[in-house]
Amino acid sequence: MDESTLTDLLRLYYSRLFPYVDYYRWLSYGEANVFSRREFSFTMRDDMYIRYQSFDKLDDLKAEVKRICPHKIDIGAVYNVPPINKKREVKFEPLQRELVIDIDMTDYDDVRTCCTGADVCSKCWKYMVIAVKILDTAFREDFGFEHILWIFSGRRGIHCWVCDKRARFLTQNGRKAVANYLQLVTGGEFTKKKVKIIKKMHHSVRRAVHIIEPMFVQMCVKEQNMLGTEDRVTKFLGIITEDDMRAEAKAELDKHTTSVKKWDAFVSFFKDQLQSGSKKWRRTPFLIEEIMIQYAYPRLDINVTKGMNHLLKSPFCVHPKTGKVCIPINPKVVEQFDLNNVPTITKLIDEVNAFDDKEITEQGESVDNVKRIKDYKKTCLNKPFYAFQEFLRGLENSQKGEKITKSDMQMEF
Ligand SMILES: [Zn+2]
Repeated sequence: MDESTLTDLLRLYYSRLFPYVDYYRWLSYGEANVFSRREFSFTMRDDMYIRYQSFDKLDDLKAEVKRICPHKIDIGAVYNVPPINKKREVKFEPLQRELVIDIDMTDYDDVRTCCTGADVCSKCWKYMVIAVKILDTAFREDFGFEHILWIFSGRRGIHCWVCDKRARFLTQNGRKAVANYLQLVTGGEFTKKKVKIIKKMHHSVRRAVHIIEPMFVQMCVKEQNMLGTEDRVTKFLGIITEDDMRAEAKAELDKHTTSVKKWDAFVSFFKDQLQSGSKKWRRTPFLIEEIMIQYAYPRLDINVTKGMNHLLKSPFCVHPKTGKVCIPINPKVVEQFDLNNVPTITKLIDEVNAFDDKEITEQGESVDNVKRIKDYKKTCLNKPFYAFQEFLRGLENSQKGEKITKSDMQMEF
């Protein structure tokens, strides 16, 4: 899409479709001054970048967004003062920030073989499915977080916003601890063996393996053809650190031709070794699990999670290259998320126009009546917006609960 077409479409999108009211419900967390001290940053059509913007009221944000039509909106932290006034303040520091996760498909380039770089297809998207499942479960079960918003990043990745109060007020060290806990595999170049499970498997690792296992053969061994070329076999064998064991495994793999057959042979060879009491192989009893983790465990951009004032692209932005809207992903049915079905800005504007035309010309509806219907309801954004509202209802219920507890405590004293 060329830049001026995009700007024209964005103008319509920001004036008719962007969910301002729900956006405010989210980012204020029930308090106007949480919203007014939040950093927004805008990327303009010429890649010009404006940081530290903040807005007293929703209407101010709305007016500015409509006026400048940003190609990208980023959300930063909530500061002690409105970021727009930062120069006037001696002390300017972030007070709260959602715990965020950024996962980009390019960090899987050492294991995915179907696409590289910015490209993504339904085969490699499965890495994201696994990432959402593993991390969402870890957040809920290991940290007790409940208000977790997963967002498609518009092209080849996902973002996660953990919005529980406890998460928003995590210190820098707290964030580091969470990030380190979640990170088992670092992205980038495949450095031979990355995962080592000693003696007992941690329950969170076992749970991750359980999530990966049912998808592993189809996804990694078959579709990504993990052992399909000599290079890939060499890379795979690099996981085995002892020379003699590596040679034995290689001999086993060399007997077969396809990736699936090689994998099956390797698994049964390994099991036989364990059963027959081979001392050296028994030193790595979790080798199969380690391989699964290395090939499919989520790769996080850990600095984004650790930092408090890192910017992250806002939900409901439109990706300038793909035209796709950054919509929520329901973690419960993440495998149903279809990349090809993500609404694009062009499609949305067409849907609005088609709806209006049909109602007015075919059904004889009055222009005023048609105008009264919210525009997003005329489009396929209806469902993702509904999902976002569900998330907000949960968040607001917990805020209400908090207020009641607070006032109860005040009554007692
Ligand atoms: Zn792919």
